[in-house]
Amino acid sequence: MRLPLRDELRGRSPYGAPQLDVPVRLNVNENPYPPSSQMVADIAEAVGATAAGLNRYPDRDAMALRADLADYLKLESQVELRPDQVWAANGSNEVMIQLLQAFAGHGRTVLGADPGYSMYGEYCLITGSTWTQVPRREDFTLDVAALADAVATQRPSVLLLASPNNPTGTALQETDLRVVLEMTRESGPDGADTVVVIDEAYGEFRRDGVASALHLLADHPHLVVSRTMSKAFGAAGLRLGYLAAAPEIIDALMIVRLPYHLSALTQAAGRAALGHAVEQLAQINVLRAERDRLEEALTSLGWKVAPSDANFVFFGITDRAGEVWQQLLDDGVLIRHTGPAGWLRVSVGTPEENDRFIEAIGKVRT
Ligand SMILES: *Cc1c(COP(=O)(O)O)cnc(C)c1O
Repeated sequence: MRLPLRDELRGRSPYGAPQLDVPVRLNVNENPYPPSSQMVADIAEAVGATAAGLNRYPDRDAMALRADLADYLKLESQVELRPDQVWAANGSNEVMIQLLQAFAGHGRTVLGADPGYSMYGEYCLITGSTWTQVPRREDFTLDVAALADAVATQRPSVLLLASPNNPTGTALQETDLRVVLEMTRESGPDGADTVVVIDEAYGEFRRDGVASALHLLADHPHLVVSRTMSKAFGAAGLRLGYLAAAPEIIDALMIVRLPYHLSALTQAAGRAALGHAVEQLAQINVLRAERDRLEEALTSLGWKVAPSDANFVFFGITDRAGEVWQQLLDDGVLIRHTGPAGWLRVSVGTPEENDRFIEAIGKVRT
C-alpha cells in the first residue's frame, strides 16, 4: 500500500521520551508524589457521579472548570481573572495546537528561542506552520535584540516562549518580557499583532521574586499565558492544560476546537483535583527546596549548573553527556539527554530519589 502521507511527515517517527521501567525515573519533569488519598477519593466520587450522565455530551465550553481554574490562578498568582479569560483543553499540548490552528498554519511563521521545548517544532509541523528560532545567550537568557530583529524581518503571527524554559530552567525577566510585548504590537502578518504565548508549565516552581506573566495580561491583549496540571499539580495523567488570555483570543480558539473536546470525566476530575489546590501548593515548596539541593550538589561535584526556576536542573558541560546518561541508567536512574550538546536534565524527585541520583552522579567523572 502507498499512503498519501503529507510530504513533511515522511520519514518522521512519533515524538516522545523513552518510557523505561527503572527504579528512579527523573526524565519527564513529573511531580514525584502521587495525589493524596483524599484527592483520590474526591476524584473518584466526582467521576462516579459524572458517569451516571455519560449518555449526554459534556459542557462544550467547560464553564465550571474554567471558573475553578480562574480561582486557582488567583490563589497561586494573585491575579484576578474572569472565567471567559481562561480556556482549557487536553493538556497544554492541545492548547498550543489550538493556538497555532487559529493564528498560524500554512504560510505563517512561529518564532521561538533555542534551546527551548522540542515539542514546539512538532506543533508547527502538525499545523503546517513555519518554525524558526533565535539562539538564546550563552547563559540561556533571552537575546532580546536578536529577537527584535527576527520579529521585524519575519513578522511571526505567534511568538512561543517557555518561562521557566524547558530544558534550561531559565525564567524570562519581566523587564525583557515588557520589551517583547512592545515589539510585538503590529509585528505580525498584515500589521496584526503577534500573539505572544508564554508557556508557564513550570510557573509554580519559580523562585521568590520572579513574577508570573499573568499580571501583564490586563494591559497586553496579545499576551497568552499557558499553564498545565501536568507538572506542579501532580496530574500529568489527567491531561488538562489551560491558558489565560483576552476573551477575543479565546473566541478564536473556540472556532478551531473540536466540539466536546474535553470529556465530562476530565472536567469533573479536574475540578475535584483543584479542590486540593492549597495542599498542592504547599507540596511545591518541598520540591523547590529539593531543586535547590540538587543544584548545590551538582555544583559541588564540579558540574556547570543553569540556575533553575523549574522542577528540574540542567547541568553539564561534558563531551560525554550520552555516556553519562547511560552510566546513570545502568545505575537505575533515568534522566534526560535533550541537547544542546554536553548538557543533561534531571527532574526533581522525592528526597530519596534525589539522594539516589546524587549518589549515582557522584560516581561519574565530570
Ligand atoms: C511538560 C511541559 C508542558 C506540559 O504539557 P501537557 O500537555 O500539559 O502535559 C508544556 N510545556 C512545556 C515547556 C513542558 O515542558
